[in-house]
Amino acid sequence: MNSYINEISAKVIEIRRYLHAHPELAFEEINTSKYICKILDEFGIKYKYPIAKTGICALIKGGKPGKTILLRADMDALPIKEEVNCDFKSKTEGLMHACGHDAHTAIMLGAAYVLNKMKDELCGNVKIVFQPAEEGVGGAEPMIKEGVMENPTVDAAFAFHVTHLCKTGQILVKNGPVMGAPDEFDIVIKGKGGHGAHPEECNDPILTASDFITTLKEKLVLNNTVVTVTAVEGGATYNIIPDIALMKGTARSTDVDTRNILEGRIEEILKAVCKAHGCTYDYNFRYMYPITVNDEGMTNIVRKAAYKVLGKENVIEYDTCPMLGEDFSYFANLVPGAYIKLGINGNGKGEHALHSSKFDIDEDALKHGVKLAVQTVIDYLA
Ligand SMILES: [Zn+2]
Ligand SMILES: [Zn+2]
Repeated sequence: MNSYINEISAKVIEIRRYLHAHPELAFEEINTSKYICKILDEFGIKYKYPIAKTGICALIKGGKPGKTILLRADMDALPIKEEVNCDFKSKTEGLMHACGHDAHTAIMLGAAYVLNKMKDELCGNVKIVFQPAEEGVGGAEPMIKEGVMENPTVDAAFAFHVTHLCKTGQILVKNGPVMGAPDEFDIVIKGKGGHGAHPEECNDPILTASDFITTLKEKLVLNNTVVTVTAVEGGATYNIIPDIALMKGTARSTDVDTRNILEGRIEEILKAVCKAHGCTYDYNFRYMYPITVNDEGMTNIVRKAAYKVLGKENVIEYDTCPMLGEDFSYFANLVPGAYIKLGINGNGKGEHALHSSKFDIDEDALKHGVKLAVQTVIDYLA
């Protein structure tokens, strides 16, 4: 395994740099996916393409019968103007790989190379999924709908995500919830407009909206949730109270039971506030990515694999689940899965958070990612 990893390490960096220089947004990963297909062809690995517009599923059949493991990489970039100066800086103005999906794809291609070399020894199959549109739109669900979990049927799923929160060569692991549900809501408050000099003759939707926002902060006290109104729109000038006001917001949770009551709790507050101001409302709550929950058994497989390839001291346990969303949850809802955070902070790089215009990674992390992915597959299939 180590000799194959050494063989491919320089190529993995080259892949990451190419992808970094050529970022593409969700479901527009045309060049990215063609590039990935070209590499898979070079490696002699079979794949299905396209799935869900730009997705790819590579399949490595082991020499011996066994289970099927899925490794997931995401491919999309973000609408951010890169502020990092490097030889492989984004060539597309205003787009950037600021979430490390270039690294995820490079790591999984490296793992694909190594596992393909070792396929005769593998007891089972490896599916490597290159997924479009992780950022907001969601490419996992359409890939599943197009059959990526079948033929052969997937038994377990794993994904790594880079993080600046630990050093290169370290990983962050946790059982249970690891990423939240980033649900969204839209509200229209319908009042009665009129002259700005005579609010007593109106049912002011702007005043109602502001009352709703403060009441929400005071009254909506639930564990493991964050509810934030992120957009307010209403009125256009100085002397007119408008008829309506619009709001958008995010309702995030990291616990399934709490998530289930959140939609109703927000509406209770909205209803009471609107009633007090003589207004009515439209309310639309949208369920987005599910909560990502790490299966204890699968997480232990990665832990033990990491003890072997990174050392036990480099496996860091954490317990707070962030409120960010992740559509790997669709895979982990169907089969036991684990979502692991891979440290990229070292050699003076990887200090900035995900989605920062200064985001960069210590490329030594790529090799650790390949090692961990390969060892996880070997240990799971064994
Ligand atoms: Zn992101
Ligand atoms: Zn990401």
